[in-house]
Amino acid sequence: MSMCIDCHAHFLPDAFTAEMTKRGFIEMHKGEGYVMVSDALTGYSRDKIRLPHFSLLDDIEERNALAEEQRIDKQIICLPPFWFGYKPDAQTGLAICRAANDAIAATIEQSPQRFAGFATVPLQSPKDAVAELKRAVEELGFWGAEIGTSIAGKPMDDPALDVFWHACCDLDVPLFVHPQHELASDRTADFYLHNLYGNPSETGLFAARMIFAGVFERFPKLNMILAHGGGTIPYIIGRLDHGYRVRPETKALPKPPSTYFKQLYFDTITHDDAMLKYLVDRVSAKHVVVGTDRPFDMGIDDPRALVEAIPGLSASERDAIIGDNARSFLSRSMPLAKS
Ligand SMILES: [Zn+2]
Repeated sequence: MSMCIDCHAHFLPDAFTAEMTKRGFIEMHKGEGYVMVSDALTGYSRDKIRLPHFSLLDDIEERNALAEEQRIDKQIICLPPFWFGYKPDAQTGLAICRAANDAIAATIEQSPQRFAGFATVPLQSPKDAVAELKRAVEELGFWGAEIGTSIAGKPMDDPALDVFWHACCDLDVPLFVHPQHELASDRTADFYLHNLYGNPSETGLFAARMIFAGVFERFPKLNMILAHGGGTIPYIIGRLDHGYRVRPETKALPKPPSTYFKQLYFDTITHDDAMLKYLVDRVSAKHVVVGTDRPFDMGIDDPRALVEAIPGLSASERDAIIGDNARSFLSRSMPLAKS
């Protein structure tokens, strides 16, 4: 049986939140279980956003115990959304990312067998994002980087970011794409819809733009893992392909949109067995990886059981999803990849 590699899990180190407090971006209310995060950090249109805070977010021992309970051998941790720091000026953005990456690297150092990391990079300044990606991968040992679905509301297919996609290919590291800055914030303000509806829709929009803008065509070695089963994109891909056949606006792309699924990976977080089976059928078992979204309540309790329950898969296809896929493309995993 393959080792289980969780490609979608969050951690918020104390050293990083202390730095954000010092810079005036947040007000921590740990005792009361929440933190107020300023729009100056997130780029949201609200003044401040109240986020839950609990010990599983910053206590490595508790996280080790939870991973053990969930039968996860290796968990790749990254910041939760809202913390990427894309809104401030370039210099501040770089300082925020450096503080985050140093703090996550120090966390991983306490339990390197169990944890690895996706870095965060200041995408509002592509050249700084390249420099920080290189530092994070080459000096701190990160497995790749986490990116949001927009840069504080601006689309990611801006050609100014080509230098960053190029660096990812050069370093041969994947990106983990996590939604933030959700669509239609006025109409998703109720019923937790900014997450339930906004997150998967945001990821779908991100992927559709990146495909149609030709980013994957220009960078055929660029690999991305899409959170939450890819959001809406696996379920609208037929529509995108049809649009490609009939609409002149889409014709800059030389091949149908679904061609570029071969550069994408999708985590297992769909919360629907039939949808997970559809996802595996549509993108193949080679392109699905485990995600748990822990420690948040929208996550998965038993990722191995979830994969075991997908009907009609061979043992090797299940192993591929549980960990072999992640091992094969997370080439910077060093000791793990070589083992
Ligand atoms: Zn998440």
